[in-house]
Amino acid sequence: MDESARPDPAALTLADLPLRADLRGTEPYGAPQLPVAVALNTNENPYPPSPRLAEALGRNVADVAAGLNRYPDRDATRLRADLARYLGHGLDTASVWAANGSNEVLQQLLQAFGGPGRRALGFEPSYSMYPVISRVTATEWVGAERGPDFGLTPEAAAAAVERHRPDIVFLTSPNNPTGTALPLEVIAAVAETAPGMVVVDEAYAEFRREDTPSALSLLADHPRLVVTRTMSKAFALAGARVGYLAAHPAVVDALQLVRLPYHLSSVTQVVAGTALEFGDELLGQVKQLREERDALVAWLRGQGYTVADSDANFVLFGDFPDRSAAWRGLLEHGVLVREVGPPGKLRVTVGTPEEMSAFRTALLQVRAEHR
Ligand SMILES: *Cc1c(COP(=O)(O)O)cnc(C)c1O
Repeated sequence: MDESARPDPAALTLADLPLRADLRGTEPYGAPQLPVAVALNTNENPYPPSPRLAEALGRNVADVAAGLNRYPDRDATRLRADLARYLGHGLDTASVWAANGSNEVLQQLLQAFGGPGRRALGFEPSYSMYPVISRVTATEWVGAERGPDFGLTPEAAAAAVERHRPDIVFLTSPNNPTGTALPLEVIAAVAETAPGMVVVDEAYAEFRREDTPSALSLLADHPRLVVTRTMSKAFALAGARVGYLAAHPAVVDALQLVRLPYHLSSVTQVVAGTALEFGDELLGQVKQLREERDALVAWLRGQGYTVADSDANFVLFGDFPDRSAAWRGLLEHGVLVREVGPPGKLRVTVGTPEEMSAFRTALLQVRAEHR
């Protein structure tokens, strides 16, 4: 073979690889991970584990370490029982499933119920990962629109489902990036209309305001309804990668067909179980964050910004004639927010009182500089 015809391995790029046609030209998920003083861009919980929790985590991980030559419990039975107890609503181990972040739960749902020739529907603006995971699982993605103030009526939601006949519907409540929660009537209307699965993504459920319901209460009446949750936000455990769902046990059976064997490591299982034992402590911090969120919404409105009502640990606000300039301005003052959602808007995560104070100061400075 002629050596000179062989491509230089050092010059090889993605374009030279026999990549799947439907992945060509796509971009990886890319919220910037920048070293800043005040990171308010990925809806993380700002409070690290307390010394007591960190100590318990270390102790329990050390116990597990002695058995790491063995595969983990494939069905994560103990963790699922703990999660079911945390959720309440009469749920048990058979109706709960866990994976590496709710993103993996969503992927498993699409692997089981989506795929080639099938269609997923969501109401945008919404979580940017739904179209990405749909594409990766070769599921067609259809984005329907939300109404004024990012809300959704039972009629509009059901009409979109009737029109597109999706195999999977994603309802996000509270929604990311808007913070909007959905009334149960909307979820029930979609569950009654949808020909396939209905997934309610409740990643931010613990942050919802008083009297905002959870779709968990609808599960008993709707066997094709799924509620997904995560330990990344309220439980301050984003680094451990634990998400889960509650659904009819038959749905859990379906996910076991697509999950990788031993997908949830022994370390992950014990870390999640330990954090659940500290639930009262962690949910106490959630209460503080909710108060901080409500204060932030009031302050932004007082400063003349348009702010979407939020049931989450973040706030979508605007309107900026040039939001990229505002985003950069905040970054120059050491505050990283997220440039996401409709034009003119920015999303800020609720942090500690000190971080929110730094955010407010930076925002006023940026505004003064751009006058
Ligand atoms: C953050 C978030 C998740 C959680 O993802 P994990 O994989 O559990 O960290 C899921 N859904 C939405 C809408 C989110 O914003």
